[in-house]
Amino acid sequence: MIKVGVLDFQGSVIEHIEMLEKIEGVEPIRVKYEEQIKEIDGLIIPGGESTTIGKIMKDFNIFLPLKEKILEGMPVWGTCAGMILLAKKIVGQDYSHLGVMDIEVKRNAYGSQIDSFMIEKTIPQVSSKPISLVFIRAPYIEKVGEGVEILSEHEGKIIAAREKNMLATSFHPELTEDESFHRYFVDMIKEKL
Ligand code: GLN
Repeated sequence: MIKVGVLDFQGSVIEHIEMLEKIEGVEPIRVKYEEQIKEIDGLIIPGGESTTIGKIMKDFNIFLPLKEKILEGMPVWGTCAGMILLAKKIVGQDYSHLGVMDIEVKRNAYGSQIDSFMIEKTIPQVSSKPISLVFIRAPYIEKVGEGVEILSEHEGKIIAAREKNMLATSFHPELTEDESFHRYFVDMIKEKL
């Protein structure tokens, strides 16, 4: 079984777990403690509130072991707040969180909660069919470094990208009925095993 963790501090944890349960050969694990980091083959950092999740990661002493494991090559996927936590740079802030992915993100880039929206888009690397993309107080990627593959853009802004073992999406595939993105991430993990 492939052990896929979901960082279990805040945000859309259950929704990611339920998506992973639909994929054969995958055992979803709710991750809260340092020891669990050693057991998993990949990790999803869910949407929620990045400042809060960043703080709790430190309180639970999971921050450094997690950063190390990502730098060693463990596949990781950040959705929305998760993307902010992975970014090396955050527009207008002089600090980052994990700071592992060579992207610069703008938080709350589409306005407040009330400006949440959904679009349909085909992302060929992920699925041949259009996928529903849900944006909730979403960030976008303003700049990417050289080694980063852009997977999708919306109105000229980058909304999904991959750099080696790291995947980042502005939107929430776990809030749809379509598990293509979760399958794509599980394939990233399989490439590493
Ligand atoms: N705006 C939130 C943040 O900055 C992210 C929103 C989300 O994850 N849906 O952390």
